[in-house]
Formats: sequence, C-alpha cells, structure tokens
Amino acid sequence: MGSPENVNYVEVMAAQRTVIVVGGGLAGLMTTMKLAEAGHKVKLFSLVPVKRSHSVCAQGGINGAVNLRGEGDSPYLHFEDTITGGDFLNHQPPVMRMAERAPAIIYLLDRMGVPFNRTSEGLLSFRRFGGTLKHRTAYAGATTGQQLLYALDEQVRRWEVAGLVEKYEGWDFLGIVKDSNEACRGITAQDLRTMQIHAFAADAVVMATGGCGLIFGKSTNSIINSGSPVSICYQQGVRYGNPEMVQIHPTAIPGEDKCRLISESVRGEGGRVWVPRDPMDERLPTSIPEKDRWYVCEELDPKYGNLLSRDIVSFIIYCVCRMDKGIKKRQQVYLDITQLHQSRGGPYTRDQINDKLEGVLEIYEKFMREDPIDLPMRIYPAVHYTMGGLWVDYETNGDGAWDVDSHRNQMTNISGLYAAGECDYQYHGANRLGANALLSCLVGGEITAQGVLAYLQGMSASGADLPSSALEDSRHQRQSEYDALCKSNGDENPYRLHQELSETMWNNCGIWRVQKDLLSAKAKLDELSRRIHKCKLVDDSGWSNQAVPFTRNVAHMIEQSKAIVGGAIVRDESRGAHFKMDTPNRDDEHWLKSTLATYSPTGPTFDFEKIDTRYLAPRARKYAVNQIGIVKKLMGENFLEGFAAAGS
Ligand SMILES: Cc1cc2nc3c(=O)[nH]c(=O)nc-3n(C[C@H](O)[C@H](O)[C@H](O)COP(=O)(O)OP(=O)(O)OC[C@H]3O[C@@H](n4cnc5c(N)ncnc54)[C@H](O)[C@@H]3O)c2cc1C
Repeated sequence: MGSPENVNYVEVMAAQRTVIVVGGGLAGLMTTMKLAEAGHKVKLFSLVPVKRSHSVCAQGGINGAVNLRGEGDSPYLHFEDTITGGDFLNHQPPVMRMAERAPAIIYLLDRMGVPFNRTSEGLLSFRRFGGTLKHRTAYAGATTGQQLLYALDEQVRRWEVAGLVEKYEGWDFLGIVKDSNEACRGITAQDLRTMQIHAFAADAVVMATGGCGLIFGKSTNSIINSGSPVSICYQQGVRYGNPEMVQIHPTAIPGEDKCRLISESVRGEGGRVWVPRDPMDERLPTSIPEKDRWYVCEELDPKYGNLLSRDIVSFIIYCVCRMDKGIKKRQQVYLDITQLHQSRGGPYTRDQINDKLEGVLEIYEKFMREDPIDLPMRIYPAVHYTMGGLWVDYETNGDGAWDVDSHRNQMTNISGLYAAGECDYQYHGANRLGANALLSCLVGGEITAQGVLAYLQGMSASGADLPSSALEDSRHQRQSEYDALCKSNGDENPYRLHQELSETMWNNCGIWRVQKDLLSAKAKLDELSRRIHKCKLVDDSGWSNQAVPFTRNVAHMIEQSKAIVGGAIVRDESRGAHFKMDTPNRDDEHWLKSTLATYSPTGPTFDFEKIDTRYLAPRARKYAVNQIGIVKKLMGENFLEGFAAAGS
C-alpha cells in the first residue's frame, strides 16, 4: 500500500484484518510497520512505552556484509560465521536468509534516517565484532539500538496517525485466547494503571516480547525482561526451543540493581582483556609494564584474540577468576582501551574515541566514577541474551531457499500465533554473534509480517467470529488468578523467592554447568514452585499495583527456569553457551538437534528436532581454542577428569 499519506481507505476497509502484536521493541515495530503497510489494523501492546523497549539499550551495532572495505566479505561468509558462532545448532535456511537480507536492512535503516557513523568519504562505517575477521557491523556511535528504535517508532507513528495502529502502552500480556480449533484468536492483558483485565480478539497474534534476563537476577537486560510472555505461551502449549542456550556476555559492570553492558564494540575498536600476572599487583594498571600483564585471550588464540566468540571469552574470564587470578583475586579483569589514546602512543584523540564509543564509555564513567580513556575498565561476565525461545517454523521451496510467501514462517506450533525477535529461537543456535540480534529482530519482524499476511489471506475463520463467551471465559480465568493472588496470605516474600531463583540459576545453570548441580537446581525449582503460591500480599493497592504482577511474574519465571534447567540436564554434551563439565565434548552424532520443551504441570517433557544443515556440514569451530582447551591450558591437562570424577 506504500505510505500512510496515500492510503485508499475504501480498499483498506475491504481487506482489513486485525493483528495483535505484543511487544514494541525492534521486532514488534518492524512487524507492525509491515502489517500496516499492507493495510491491516494492528493493536500494539507493550509493557513499557514503546520507545523504552529494551532494544533502546543496544549499543554496538548491526551486522550486514556490505563489504565497503573491499575485504572480500559476503552474505555467505556472514552466514558461515553465524553458523560457526552458533556451534551448528542453528537451522541453516533461516540464517542464510538473514545474512542475505542484512545489507538491504542496513540501507533501509539508513534511508529512514538512522545516523550511522560514516567514513571521511561519507560512506557507512563498519567496525569489527566478535566471531568474524571482517568489518561487518554498522553502528551509530554506541547508541545504535536507540537510533534504530526511534527510526522505526517514527514510521509506526505515521501509521498510528493514519488510524491503522492502536497502541496499548503500560499493558501486561496475560495469555493467548484460542478458538474451538485451538487456533490463536486473541489475547488477555492487564492495564497496569487501572489493574483492569480485558480480552481482545484478533485474526492473528505476534509475540515480540524480548529476553528473560531477570530469571538470572542481575543481567545486562532491562529489569522488565522477566520473559513471562514466553513462559505463559509455553504454559499454554507453545513449544520452547533450545531453552538451555543462554548467552553470558564477557564484559559487564555489576551494579546494585542490574549489570551494565560494556559493549563488544569496545573490543571491536581495539579494547584488550588482561589481568596483572601477579593478581595482587598494587600498581596502577597503567603503570604495570607489558611483561607483567597477561593478555589471556590473545595468548590462547592469537588470530581472533579478544574477538573470539562470546561464549569463549566469557569462559576464559570465568576460568581466570575461578583460579583466583582476577584483579586482586576478585571477580574482575581489565578491559583496556587506554592504549588507543595518543597520550599512550595510540592512533586516536579523545574526540575520535568518543565518536565511536561515547555512549558506552559514559555508562562506565557514570557508574564506576573512572574515566575509561585514562584507566582500564574492570569487568566481569553477565547473563545477556537468550538464544532459546518460542519454537517457530520456516518453509523452503523446491530449490531449498526460504519460501518467503509461506504462512508457516515464524509461526509457532499454535496456528495463528507467531513470534519474532529475541523471544523466538530461530537464528542463533547455541551462541549468538554480537550485532546479529538487532538484525534477527528486523529480518524476523519482516518475515513474520509476510507469514501473517499469507496466513490472513488463506484463513477461513476470523477473530470477529470468536464467540464473546470465549473471550469472557479467558478474561474471567485471568481475573480469578489475579484475585487469588491479591488475597494470598502465606508467609513467603515474592522478592526473596526471586532472589533464591536467580541465585539458583546463576550458580547452577550459568557458565560452568555440572549435572549434579543442574539436578539440585531442578529440585530447588520444584520447591520454589510450591512456595510461590504461599506468598503474603505485600501490596493490595487497586491502582498501579507493583507487587501482585511481580509475584505473578516470579511464578512464570520459575516455570520457564524448569525448561532451561531441564534442557541443560537432557543435553548430554557441550555446545556453544552450554558447557557441561561432565560431558565436555560436542557430540554431533547424538546432539545435532534442537531441544524442544513442552510444558506439563509436573515439569517439562522434551523431544528433539534434527538440525537442517543443508548448506554447511558441521565441523569443528574455527577458533584456536574451545572450552575444553581453555580448561586444560589454564587448569591443567587432567583437570576435567578430576572434576568429573569428584562430581564437584
Ligand atoms: C545492553 C545490551 C546491549 C545490546 N547491544 C546489542 C547490539 O549492539 N547489537 C545487537 O545486535 N544486539 C544487541 N543486544 C541484543 C538486542 O538489543 C536485543 O536482542 C533486541 O533489542 C531485542 O529486541 P526485541 O524486539 O526482541 O525485544 P525488546 O526490545 O526487548 O522489546 C520487548 C517488547 O516486549 C514488551 N513486553 C515485554 N514483556 C511484556 C509483557 N509482559 N506484556 C506486554 N509487553 C511486554 C516490552 O514492553 C517491549 O516493548 C544488546 C542487548 C543488551 C542487553
């Protein structure tokens, strides 16, 4: 249909359907924009104002093999890096499609007015990110997510003015509504100001609700990222793909409320990870000479160095600190850009460094009260991203390429229910490469809209046919659950339970996984799911109540955690972000398959789906080290055997 200014309303009304999009981050906005462009009406739900969606926090950039530097980069190499980075757990057709669309997406954003950094010739500037040797990441300083989100928000606002988009900001998603054929025909949601619960009919529903970092307590995610919508869909019958695959970012600064990311762009621009050879070295880091510094990533892999994939760099830092070799034997290592400044023999002025990294350096200075251009930053890994998420489908045509016109693309196993962005499991396998998430949100959002359009064209039923009793029954069920929570009068504190949950998940299901610890986490989660129903009502306010929705979220987080831990227990191998000490090898013979969790009240059940490896046969990753190599090199040849034998 083109732009909102040229809408032919007669034509629109004839064809118009209503789609609900839950989530106004990059994935949700892209889906909304594309559906509105096709003339359909979108009800857009978001917990927070759309412009405050977590995508706004993305710092470093977005990948696309535009190859402006003439390095021989190509979408195929982008595809290959993504598959290798994901440790061959990603189905290959969607990744090929994502890599092929990436340059066009970057140019689309450029035309929308995203202020990407430019070279002195006026061309788009690209930086390096982890897991590749090419300059492939377009960026807008270190606030790329904000620039992208605002550009898309602007587009969606035009459709809002044209009457095709209706926003519900400050609403909490409570569940999907199914028709008598088990197809999704709407949602229930709660207005978090009035606390009223409503049911809404739609012809199709798209989930675009982001990640679930809050399960692990302090993460780099926004604190609204509980993952509850994914958990709810899972509890309502959607399969949850690769739940055990949770990314831990190597470089973050711990805070009282959350961890703050220090973007990979810092390493992309030349930042180096090191610790003093003597952890108790009292000298200022800038006074420690080269010979007394241990550049551990560069030593372990001289080619990729500090730009090894995230799972590997996090693991290295974790091991160094576990060996008491972190700075002052604490959980911290240096991330150093001081050598980039001219005063230390580097190539750049302060302004030039700020031109590329200001947004992220400001965050460090604000929270640590040290200037990172003068003193190395102190960082530690933190939970960052969920590769796992709602299982979604894709369809290929005769020649093996993605069939973009299929209604199956991005549809979950529930007809009419789609998912896009961080909340789906589609693109990143066992580990996501930096700067591929924004891309997967935008490509995923675009493909989702195309899938929904195909679905709408072929559907015989409609949301309008849904009997009002079906909507009212769903609303009533959610209202009863809420009322029961409001009256809850046990002796448990939901905030304490959340703390216990996050400690269990971080300590037992984090970087360093052992079967015995995972089993004890499973038992703890069962205990927590009993206790969460015995909470004391700590806030009975009927207006903007915070405590009751939080309690509800904790219950959902516990159910989702059972799938995460359950997946880690069943996957008896190590792959990407999932490193299990007692089964440290990747095992393609038995485990080249997605883990698919299905909810049951007694805990998740699992089945498996073979990975589509049609373009690139699985092989060892191209980095010089993997987790086993790191353990052996840093902790000794026999460490793993001893560890597994002791079961510690
Ligand atoms: C600090 C940080 C920096 C990052 N930097 C980069 C980067 O440089 N490059 C890159 O590629 N990736 C980066 N990532 C990852 C990337 O930002 C995210 O994966 C991506 O933005 C997720 O977008 P999304 O649209 O899927 O979800 P989000 O942007 O998280 O949006 C989720 C939406 O769902 C809504 N929602 C959530 N729960 C509910 C609910 N219960 N009811 C109703 N609505 C709900 C929210 O209000 C929001 O509108 C970074 C991540 C972090 C944490």
